[in-house]
This record gives sequence, C-alpha cells and structure tokens, in this order.
Amino acid sequence: MTGVLAMCTFCHCSEPQAQSSVPVSAAHGPFTSASETGAAAPDSLLAFSRQELLGQFNPAEHEGFERIPDAWTDKDNIYLRSEVLEAYRQMKTAADQAGIQLIIRSATRNFDYQRGIWERKWKRPQYMGWQAIDKARDILTYSAMPGASRHHWGTDIDLNSFENDWFEQGDGAEVYAWLSAHANQFGFHQVYDDKSSGRTGYELERWHWSYLPTAGPMLAAYNQRIDTPDLTNSPFSGAATADSLNILVQFVNGIVLPEN
Ligand SMILES: [Zn+2]
Repeated sequence: MTGVLAMCTFCHCSEPQAQSSVPVSAAHGPFTSASETGAAAPDSLLAFSRQELLGQFNPAEHEGFERIPDAWTDKDNIYLRSEVLEAYRQMKTAADQAGIQLIIRSATRNFDYQRGIWERKWKRPQYMGWQAIDKARDILTYSAMPGASRHHWGTDIDLNSFENDWFEQGDGAEVYAWLSAHANQFGFHQVYDDKSSGRTGYELERWHWSYLPTAGPMLAAYNQRIDTPDLTNSPFSGAATADSLNILVQFVNGIVLPEN
C-alpha cells in the first residue's frame, strides 16, 4: 500500500513479547510513519503473515495464541496472542485490587467470524433498497469489513459493554475512569476516541482497547503488505465498496495513538 498516513504507526520494537509490562511511551518513543523515516522494514514486519493480518486463520490452532480463561469473559472459547493475554492478566490483577471488574466481551475474531457479523448486518430489513455503498458506510459506523479488523490480530479486546452510555455513569464510569488512567501502563490504549483527535473511521468505542506493543508493528506490517484488492477480491457482500470507501486509509488507519 502506498500513501501511509501520518496517523499510521511504525514501531521499531522487534520483541513485543518481552514488553508486556512496559509502558507504551517508554517502549516505543515517538511514533513515526515509515514514509517519513524512509526506514527499511525491520524484521518485525515480516513476523506477521498475510493470513494473520487478514484474519485468515484459526486462533485455536495458532501456536502464538492462548485461550482466555472462562472466568474473564462471557464468551466461550475466545483467544488472544499470548503476550497480550499476559499483559491483560497484569492489568486485570491491578484492576481487581482497585475494586474494578473487567470482563472481556470480545477478543480475536477471524475473517470468517467477522464475515458472519458483516453479512448479518448486510441483510437487515432496514437496508431494503439501499445502494451497496450506503449499506457499507452505515455498517462501518461500528463494524469492520472482514479482512480489515484489528480484532483479526489478536491484540484488541472489547471490555464490559458495547454501549458508550454504559461507561458514563455508575460502575461503568468507574471502569472507564480506571482504564483511562491505567490501561496505558499495561500497553492497552483506546484507539477509537470521539474523533476530537481528527481521526477518521469508526465512531467512539469506549469498550475497545488495543495492545499497542504488538498492534503497532501489526499495523505497520498491514500497511506494507495488504492492499485494497485484498479486500475487494474477498468473498463478502459489498467487498467492492472497499475501494471507494478507502477502507485502508480511512478505517484501518483511522485510529488515535498516545501522544508520548
Ligand atoms: Zn472492538
């Protein structure tokens, strides 16, 4: 892919597994795009296969993934990358000690799973008579196209509630305040803010937290190795709209990153 945005990260860490407890700011230093530095691709970019970047694998059979303990999630049989699970374990321990209850509502979703979400929404009766591009744009309010989701990477989790409102009062507000203050120390960051940062793409998601020591290099790898035809040639409804909607730039790179 050409035209890597300024918003795109280019992480120079080659050993994300060793950094699960290191603050993101200390682990990464300033975020700089590959196009700005002109740097050659580090080995870390080659560590991720196209199949991993596009979600075309089964996390249950991937040696780099571990199953999330049942007590931590309301889902059956969901997975994270091992270093992400370890970082989450440390974050959860700290949250527990502060009286904050975290629940993983979603984690790794592969291409087939994301396609299931997408196709279910695509068939909504409310879209009868809509143009494909309008349908896609509406679904993209909160849901990624198959092949373009950070949930493919095993680095991103959805916590506690899929309603932004839930995080505004009572227990939800306490959870959100705790995450906002402490998640970064464990490598997790809320990448979909209210867009006051100027980012594009999905709307505010207070539930979605990304483990940047691994997700940073994965986004850099995605930007190097995946191009629009990888989406438009994929088997899901409305795949052709990925081109005119500029999914790779507007959505895959439509994130906000820590300032330091
Ligand atoms: Zn999410």
